[in-house]
Amino acid sequence: MIKDPNKCVMCRRCETMCNEVQTCNVLSAVNRGFESFVGPAFNMDMADSSCTFCGQCVAVCPTAALTEMDNTTQVWNELVNPKKHVVVQIAPAVRVAIGEMFDMEPGTISTGKIVTALRKMGFDGVFDTNFGADLTIIEEATELIHRINHNGTLPMLTSCCPAWVKFFEHQFPDLLDIPSTCKSPQIMFGTIAKTYYAQKKNLKPENISVVSIMPCLAKKAEAKRPELTKDDHSNVDIVITTREFGRMMKSAGIDFANLPDSEFDKMMGESTGASIIFGTTGGVIEAATRTAYEWLTDEELEDVNFTQLRGLEGIREASVFIGEMELKIGIAHGLGNARKLLEDIQSGKSKFHAIEIMACPGGCIGGGGQPYHHGNMEILKKRQEALYVDDESRKKRKSHENKEIIQLYKEFIGEPYGEKAHELLHTHYVAREKI
Ligand code: SF4
Repeated sequence: MIKDPNKCVMCRRCETMCNEVQTCNVLSAVNRGFESFVGPAFNMDMADSSCTFCGQCVAVCPTAALTEMDNTTQVWNELVNPKKHVVVQIAPAVRVAIGEMFDMEPGTISTGKIVTALRKMGFDGVFDTNFGADLTIIEEATELIHRINHNGTLPMLTSCCPAWVKFFEHQFPDLLDIPSTCKSPQIMFGTIAKTYYAQKKNLKPENISVVSIMPCLAKKAEAKRPELTKDDHSNVDIVITTREFGRMMKSAGIDFANLPDSEFDKMMGESTGASIIFGTTGGVIEAATRTAYEWLTDEELEDVNFTQLRGLEGIREASVFIGEMELKIGIAHGLGNARKLLEDIQSGKSKFHAIEIMACPGGCIGGGGQPYHHGNMEILKKRQEALYVDDESRKKRKSHENKEIIQLYKEFIGEPYGEKAHELLHTHYVAREKI
């Protein structure tokens, strides 16, 4: 994040968001009177503080005193580098929000236009983070079933939101064995691009550049985590937000609203409806439940809509019956809400088998890198509805039906949750100080 105190009008919205909504307690007024400015205690670097990089301070700042670090020049440089094969992935929440930067209605599904724009910009491969999301579900549902069948640690917490991961590392370092060990969809995608895809295309991993377009600021920091990089190369090289992507298209003179639609490239471009709903609160756990249900019961799930898991209330709970078993599920979005569920786990009061947590209000649809919504919940509702519409429109709505994922396991990974899957697709967490 970039902090420019010259633009700050001391409205303190960022502080309210950081301290009261997200309960991270990183931002406050440093000094007093005319000398005061907003920053972490002792004006230390944000990077050295307990900041989760959720970017919600950026989302509420009215003057751009807080903004994301701009990585667009790096992307242009990669695209004109003849030695680099540059591939791009786009996250689910981007496709229902990017249109707002081109005067389209919130919730317009722009997937086909995005693919066309990315080809015009010169990417060598245009892929979908939803492929990574389907892969995440295969591993996460297998991990949940494994924990249930082998008396493993419960509840299992989802791990695809990097701001949430950094939050529990700082605030609840005694609970590091509870989250799923699955890498996020972004990092799973990058890992497969630099291994399986590299092999298939006969390319060296270091000559592939993976660019991510995310609704999220925390994904920039996630891509730089040492345990998520491999030997001498990153799995994801550059992350830009939805806003940066919009600015790139504008600077290139792309008339986004009038572009024709096109399709993602093959090999890592197929996705199911389950992966699309990753972009909203409740979506990850609904996707995992669809797969876990069929795998645990050996029966086809007739109605895949677990509507009891949907909504925008900050904390939700629901039960799903899988055969004889009542699977108790908790959902929280916003880190202040997450804190409540974690305190229940610490005090032994939690009754859940699985909990989904997303750091941003509404989940990634309200991410810190999305077009500014200025707290307008109607905009978030429209983005959320669009994701469910997109899910409903798909013939395949369960992650384990994704043919490219089935092929990937057959040709390269082997068993879900097996040895190679652990090496490639799982990670560990780090206890951090609360500063
Ligand atoms: Fe990023 Fe989504 Fe988590 Fe927000 S909820 S920090 S956008 S992954």
